[in-house]
Amino acid sequence: MFISCKCAGMEEQMEELRQQLEKQCLINTELQRQNKDLEQRLQEKEKLLQELHSQYHDIEFPASSGTDNDAEFRKSRAAVIASEPIQETLDILKSRVKKTSSETALIVKSIQKNDFLSRLDDEQIAMMVDLLETLAIARGGEVIKEGTEGDSMYIVAAGELLVTQAGRDLRTLTGGDVFGELAILYNCKRTATVKAKTEVRLWCMERQTYRTIITNKSKKKREQLLGFLRTSRTLKDLNDVQLSKIIDSMEEVKYQNKDVIVREGAEANTFYIILKGEVLVTKNVNGLQKPIRRMGKGEHFGEQALIREVLRTATCTADGPVTCFSIDKEVFEETIPVEHLELFDDSKMLQEARAPEKSSPGSTLRFKDLVPVLYQEGRYQGDSVTLGVGGFGRVQLMTTVNHGKYYAMKRVGKKHIVAKRQEEHMLFEKKILKAIQCDFIVRLHGAFKDTRYIYMVMEFCGGGEIWTKLKEVGRFDEQVAVFCTACVVEAYAYLHKKSIMYRDLKPENLMLDVRGYVKLVDFGFAREMVRGEKTYSFVGTPEYMAPEIIKNQGHDFAVDFWSLGILIYELLVGSPPFSSSEPQKIYAKILDGVLNYPPYLSEAAKSIISKLCRPRPGQRLGNTKNGIKDVRHHRWFSNMNWHKLRMAQLDAPTVRLIRKGPSYINFDRFPQDQTKAEEEFSGWDRDF
Ligand code: ATP
Ligand code: MG
Repeated sequence: MFISCKCAGMEEQMEELRQQLEKQCLINTELQRQNKDLEQRLQEKEKLLQELHSQYHDIEFPASSGTDNDAEFRKSRAAVIASEPIQETLDILKSRVKKTSSETALIVKSIQKNDFLSRLDDEQIAMMVDLLETLAIARGGEVIKEGTEGDSMYIVAAGELLVTQAGRDLRTLTGGDVFGELAILYNCKRTATVKAKTEVRLWCMERQTYRTIITNKSKKKREQLLGFLRTSRTLKDLNDVQLSKIIDSMEEVKYQNKDVIVREGAEANTFYIILKGEVLVTKNVNGLQKPIRRMGKGEHFGEQALIREVLRTATCTADGPVTCFSIDKEVFEETIPVEHLELFDDSKMLQEARAPEKSSPGSTLRFKDLVPVLYQEGRYQGDSVTLGVGGFGRVQLMTTVNHGKYYAMKRVGKKHIVAKRQEEHMLFEKKILKAIQCDFIVRLHGAFKDTRYIYMVMEFCGGGEIWTKLKEVGRFDEQVAVFCTACVVEAYAYLHKKSIMYRDLKPENLMLDVRGYVKLVDFGFAREMVRGEKTYSFVGTPEYMAPEIIKNQGHDFAVDFWSLGILIYELLVGSPPFSSSEPQKIYAKILDGVLNYPPYLSEAAKSIISKLCRPRPGQRLGNTKNGIKDVRHHRWFSNMNWHKLRMAQLDAPTVRLIRKGPSYINFDRFPQDQTKAEEEFSGWDRDF
């Protein structure tokens, strides 16, 4: 369910066909009544389209030609990804598999030539080399089956395998080829079948093992860095939340033997912690370098540089290969208010974040009072209106018999939730939405359940999805993009203040109300976080994922600012900056972090996007010391009256995108759901 990138060319044709069909459908509304025949033909076409849709899905395996078109546009809705919970304990030592040096060489070479894997950190690659296990497959044996869910990745050690898709031969895999690698990130559907042509030996690794070990390692690394920073005299008054922010801004730098890291007499503007290797400290005495001391792992130098204008008083040279973690004075000042270094107390900020909530108004809405709204015309006339279908469920338009108010009701099959291990996500989505009262976030009016489904009855956003509007017009002009983004900034300010990160920003999750104000929907991935802590789950939408999520380094509120940058780009350009029909290529591009701006983007737009999409979370606009204020004050928003926006006193430029007509006029149309979900009795939804 989670990933469905499609063949770009086909998708485009289908989208065009679909749009044509939609138009025809509207124009012919009147004629259709009389002309049953035409109706039937339309339905047949639709069926054909659906069949085509299901036949053309993406190939997870790199095409042998390897051509990559940088300008691949996002034609289909982005799919979401949710990882299962991680085991806390798994012994790395027990999971390690001994390898000869030639085996290691083959594995490393394979990883290096793989688009996605090669971009992981050295440490993660080393870990992968350690964890791979051998697997022997007899001739004719099936390693991967198309359509099933993957939980392992493979490297061919010896032998040949055949890749097929829908019965067609795609390519042959031989020694050193990598396949199924996306499975180490999440439980994606296999898009092809792989069978052994000869006897085959594989290196293989399970996702659970990889993710658990990387996560525990990342956590340990942060702990260790915190420990190192705590020993710095200059930073001794900072609390862990602040130290953690500093870590987020720091970058890893590598030095070769004899490289000079800092030179005596030079202007000092960087602080270093040694992560690996040894550094020799020397001083110039009568023209000769006199050794002063040696420093090793965990020691730091240059801390004075962070708060004072000083010159280096010694030279530090790498003695052998050295890895340091470093931060520049400028970045440091952005991260922590230096002027108050000794006085600054972060606890106030935390108290504010936990201010008592206004309790949500008692809901008087009863489930049995809700009735579905029906299509009044067109090919689905008489069927109940579906507003959207997401990865997890279906959203229907409802009303109440008496007062005719509209509601959007999200319905999700309980069995499906259990199968995908998304119980926690669902419970949390409901809990969060219930507690939220913000004009830029969809309201929850009631939550219900029966033996098959859970239901969330929400405020109806009649203007439709930003995604649909964006596809209709291609790209938004700056005024519209500024307005939409400003609404998101207000929603973020509210959520982050409540210590909630959103994690699923994208045009598909932004809805317009009838006045053209934007609201955030879909809180399946939102999560409450203590400031200074990190979470290690792999969730989000590939195109919108921050690099720290892909690298499993631990993430927090900063990912929301990254995705805000991606959103601004997509609104202004029509497709996100890092896109491809193959997810692993998206990840590779995100890790490279190169933003290409079309010439029509304004300077201000380019500036805010690059500041939001900085690879290091601690350097991102919105996540530095002034927080979200910096976003509001950026010149791209210079014409925005934030106060009036909050008071709903601005005329929304988005109204011109909203169509007038029946309540569902701004939505795609969907056929009725014919199937019924199975019953589910495990009781996970007791508190729903
Ligand atoms: P996914 O997780 O795959 O994004 P989902 O199953 O969690 O999907 P939502 O994203 O919450 O579901 O909703 C699916 C679609 O339903 C939305 O994209 C939108 O078109 C429509 N929708 C959701 N909430 C509302 C609402 N309050 N008013 C109108 N339409 C809505
Ligand atoms: Mg959604």
